[in-house]
Amino acid sequence: MANICPIKNVADLVSEARRVYRETFDGDDANVAVCAPGRVNLIGEHTDYNEGFVLPMALPMVTVMVGSKTSGQKCSVLTLTEAADEPRMVDFDLPNELTPLLRGQPNWANYVKGVVEHYRAQPIPGFRAVIASSVPLGGGLSSSASLEVAVYTFLQQLCPDDGNQVAKAVACQQAEHTHAAVPCGIMDQFVSVLGKEGHALLIDCRSLEATAVPLADPGLVILITNSNVRHTLTGSEYPTRRKQCEDAAAILGKKSLREATLQDLEAAKDRLDSVTYQRAHHVIEEIERTAQAAEALKRGDYKEFGRLMVESHNSLRDNYEVSCPELDELVSAALEVDGVFGSRMTGGGFGGCTVTLLQAHATERAVKHIQEKYHGSPTFFITKPSEGAHALSL
Ligand code: ADP
Repeated sequence: MANICPIKNVADLVSEARRVYRETFDGDDANVAVCAPGRVNLIGEHTDYNEGFVLPMALPMVTVMVGSKTSGQKCSVLTLTEAADEPRMVDFDLPNELTPLLRGQPNWANYVKGVVEHYRAQPIPGFRAVIASSVPLGGGLSSSASLEVAVYTFLQQLCPDDGNQVAKAVACQQAEHTHAAVPCGIMDQFVSVLGKEGHALLIDCRSLEATAVPLADPGLVILITNSNVRHTLTGSEYPTRRKQCEDAAAILGKKSLREATLQDLEAAKDRLDSVTYQRAHHVIEEIERTAQAAEALKRGDYKEFGRLMVESHNSLRDNYEVSCPELDELVSAALEVDGVFGSRMTGGGFGGCTVTLLQAHATERAVKHIQEKYHGSPTFFITKPSEGAHALSL
């Protein structure tokens, strides 16, 4: 079908990475291979760091890491992804108590170093590895979390940890905090670790419990549209939103906005400035909406699910103010198509992707219509809920 990006299959990524590994490292063969998926969030945006609910699914797009352990203390890692900053090959020594692994250049290697630093077992051996990925970088589909989780899964093959999956996700989140300086919530890493084929994952970001919700109806399609724009703005939008949520929770006398109701918010309205009020309003409603959406999905009520997706988008646009004209245009265009249940921006915002739930038979029509209406150049992916990170046999 025209304009729909084919998704590179995992076997092709692995064989490409193995070939480059042989060429780069003296003809040696890699003996470990792993993959970790990107994710799309169906609903529950900007709720994870408020201890709320999120409902993402793991994608068929993955980051693959192949390699082998070495006898020394040195790590050599090469990424095949051209969108990563140069140089694409890095060498670093394993950290020890006196010399931790610090952030540096190139930026992409910080995700690798961060995971090595936060890995939960010792002693990590030196290693050589090649990374290949089918997750678009910086598009809001969590290429960074998939890279972190791939690195962690790779280290598990060299130096097994206790196998605690939630602790694995938390370690990868820590890596992003300390080494990429992004104070992200737990969603991306969690679903990359624990995603389940044919299911979305309702994650309670307070208890870190997850419920798999079936999403394998062959009559449905989950269409991702990449706006191919990224507004960098000042770069402080995400931390600013986090801070506004923390401030709102503190004024309401709650540990987090998860504990607050809309009644609490209304009662405190005159103690909140209007922006903080709007931010909290989005989060409190979105947490509730996500729980409702998971129930609708369980019942197979796609119409209701779609309605909640649209409400979510509107609230992200008007209350949380993280959308942009391109995402709004993509959502409006999708909603004009017969057979579309719902559409919304997904991920942090200010660009990146939208996610649309629609009847499978409407896919071609939807793609054509969105393409015609959108002023930019979109890319489309037809996706299905996929498996979380795992080792691959070579
Ligand atoms: P995303 O929504 O895709 O996670 P981010 O901006 O948070 O967007 O993270 C993207 C960054 O993650 C890239 O700029 C790069 O530094 C790193 N990254 C992700 N995947 C890879 C990869 N395959 N190779 C090298 N770096 C990667």
